[in-house]
Amino acid sequence: MLIVGTDVTAVETDLTGGRLTCPTCGSVLRPWGHGIAREVRLLAGSERRRFRRSICSCCAGTHVLVPEDTLVRRRDAAEVIGAALVAKAKGSGHRRIALALGRPSSTVRGWLRRFATMAVALREHFTRWATVIDPTHDRRSPGGSGLFDAVEAVGVLGVVAVRRFGPRPPWSMASFLTGGHLLSNTSSPWVPPV
Ligand SMILES: [Zn+2]
Repeated sequence: MLIVGTDVTAVETDLTGGRLTCPTCGSVLRPWGHGIAREVRLLAGSERRRFRRSICSCCAGTHVLVPEDTLVRRRDAAEVIGAALVAKAKGSGHRRIALALGRPSSTVRGWLRRFATMAVALREHFTRWATVIDPTHDRRSPGGSGLFDAVEAVGVLGVVAVRRFGPRPPWSMASFLTGGHLLSNTSSPWVPPV
């Protein structure tokens, strides 16, 4: 899979124009149909989407193009999971958050636990990216819980990225910079800044 922007037309233009590259070997990706329709649950309601598929012109690997407002293997959009994480950082418990978002409390608890497990590494990752995007940015010292500091790092990164690149939801940025693996079980697959 490859994480891409949410503008379907722009992604299609990049794909057909040979501007998307294979995450495995770096060669040009070509269009390769669409995946099956899947439900994406946003804050404002659900959408059914068919993700674009691509094939590498060199290694023939196929890659689903996953829009950055979603996370790999999660039906709930990045903004929904992000809202849960922000509420947790502000002191809410998983049951209250689940009620507010209209999601099962076991699902919400799963997100919070997974994020908390990776919080220190995520904070470091997002802080490094924020520093690369804007070396003068207002650095925060860790002071809260691991989860709080990591959520704050997403917020800081969001501000820095918007100043540099224009409007983009912070949790889409977080998804983009973790390759969709914000809540991944695999060990640190995130691309570091160069
Ligand atoms: Zn390839």
